[in-house]
Amino acid sequence: MELKNIRNFSIIAHIDHGKSTLADRLLEVTHTIEKRKMRAQVLDMMDLERERGITIKMQPVRMKYVQNSEEYLLNLIDTPGHIDFSYEVSRALQAVEGVLLLVDATQGVQAQTFTVLNLARDLGLKIIPVINKIDSDAARVTETEQEIMDLLKCESAEIMKVSGKTGAGVAELLTEIVAKIPAPTLEFPGTNPRALIFDFSYSTHQGVIIYARLFDGEIKKGEQLMFRATGEKFTVLEVGSFMPEKKPLAKLSAGEIGYIVTGVKRAGTARVGDTVTSVAHSLPAVAGYSEPKPVVWASLYPENADDFVLLRQSLERLRLSDAALSFNEESSGTLGRGFRAGFLGLLHLEIIVERLKREFDLSLVVTTPSIGYEVKNTQTDETKMIYSPSLFPSDTHEYEIREPWLRASIILPPSYLGNVIRLFNDHEVNLITTENFSDDRSKLEIELPLRELMRHFFDELKSVSSGFASFSYQLIGLRPAEVVRLDVLVNGEIVAPFCKVVSRAKVEHEAQAVVEKLEELMPRQLITIKLQAQALGRIIAARSLSALRKDVTDYLYGGDITRKMKLREKQKKGKKKMQARGSVNIPPEVFLKMISSQN
Ligand code: GDP
Ligand code: MG
Repeated sequence: MELKNIRNFSIIAHIDHGKSTLADRLLEVTHTIEKRKMRAQVLDMMDLERERGITIKMQPVRMKYVQNSEEYLLNLIDTPGHIDFSYEVSRALQAVEGVLLLVDATQGVQAQTFTVLNLARDLGLKIIPVINKIDSDAARVTETEQEIMDLLKCESAEIMKVSGKTGAGVAELLTEIVAKIPAPTLEFPGTNPRALIFDFSYSTHQGVIIYARLFDGEIKKGEQLMFRATGEKFTVLEVGSFMPEKKPLAKLSAGEIGYIVTGVKRAGTARVGDTVTSVAHSLPAVAGYSEPKPVVWASLYPENADDFVLLRQSLERLRLSDAALSFNEESSGTLGRGFRAGFLGLLHLEIIVERLKREFDLSLVVTTPSIGYEVKNTQTDETKMIYSPSLFPSDTHEYEIREPWLRASIILPPSYLGNVIRLFNDHEVNLITTENFSDDRSKLEIELPLRELMRHFFDELKSVSSGFASFSYQLIGLRPAEVVRLDVLVNGEIVAPFCKVVSRAKVEHEAQAVVEKLEELMPRQLITIKLQAQALGRIIAARSLSALRKDVTDYLYGGDITRKMKLREKQKKGKKKMQARGSVNIPPEVFLKMISSQN
């Protein structure tokens, strides 16, 4: 297809504003999918996506569209809306020339609308504003239109109005896409290829399959290509386009979006954001490649120790199609062998755990997620990242600690402002700006530590605003942290897996909470059990579980008093011995409740 007849675009929006549903209508109108095969959110192909009604994996699709007897090739990339995947969304946006900025008429502009708009603006993409769900009784089209005009400084006539549900306005939208989104342009004329990887998948037979936007040249089966970031070479086994199922083509040409089967079976070779180019005539990378960085860590242990190898294989298998997943082996006395793994966020963690359960039939113990701290030894100047609280220094005198911070936007009705601002104190939030964003909504810009986001900031925000506040964030870098290590001792022995890193200001509170929880969970035993929390070199909370008085002489009836005395004497000695050793059995179910995220 000639470049001038190609349009590459993506749909961006706040979550649930109707991206996938609008994509359905575009596929229908362009006859890409027959009506009888159509189902709602057809691009959400994974079972998990369909069940939860969210897009997890981005999905490209190619459409043919005829206008005034001229044929056009439209490539659409449907993107996941969740913040965890914003790195991939930013790469997907690098593969297109324009976006549809979708705003739900029943909700108006929301926090993520800003974030995705900024991404698109930074890349210099053509933005077509679209108001969706105009069919709904709750639609407030005029108000939403005003918000978009303020936001984009545009005219009302430039804003498209559609319904992804009824299909109203979709034909006009297609005309607008062809008219407004620029056709791709070449940087390096000729046949030498240069393709940006914006996603990839893995198949046992074909190895890594990369999803790519070809910027220059062409790619055919049998060619020798290489990944720029890793230097790894491969021979192209097949190329094709997404209909949305994979359909082989004779070649992929400049300006197009499609897939390349590499046959590569090693994890970590393909990375989102990397460029594929020819071995013989390599061209420069399409964009600066930067590695997606995990932001939360959790330990994964098989419930059944025999499944350790299966867990390793499964994680390796998932990593073949998800370079953002990282993991290292670790072991814990009680749980045996497992892995400490890094994730892009809590949703990413949840999805990986769910896939391990479903696709590999594993039962897992998952620990409460924690974040990474940068720890610098001021004596030696040595700096390292610590991802596991039990490796955090207990005495931080000689260390400088830094932690990740976020910049976030909140949009909410002004009547909830008071509630929300009260929440800020407890979560160490800095309020940067407050503005009236339209007649009935305010926009707050805030900064807060990632650690506080993990302490259920978002859930609490939702609850104090009755669900009306929308939230979006970006990581902005490391800042000095006032945090300490909190240890839990059972009869004087530190239980390493119970260790946490907490804010210095909240350490008393956290210490009380953790011993109370343990007291509640621990069954009483034959000896007295001391439960303590220790931080800053001293015990700051303590409880004691009195011994269970079990009369060992109960089964002896009759009057043999001397035998009873003897037995009692024996029991006393045994208890003394146990007490002296201090070793207390923590029942596995207590252990699990203390460390796992399911509580
Ligand atoms: P996404 O998260 O942006 O991909 O949103 P989805 O396409 O999954 O849609 C979110 C919800 O909005 C679903 O329940 C859809 O049925 C609903 N929805 C999407 N488009 C429309 C529309 O035009 N009108 C109405 N009334 N509902 C819609
Ligand atoms: Mg979707």
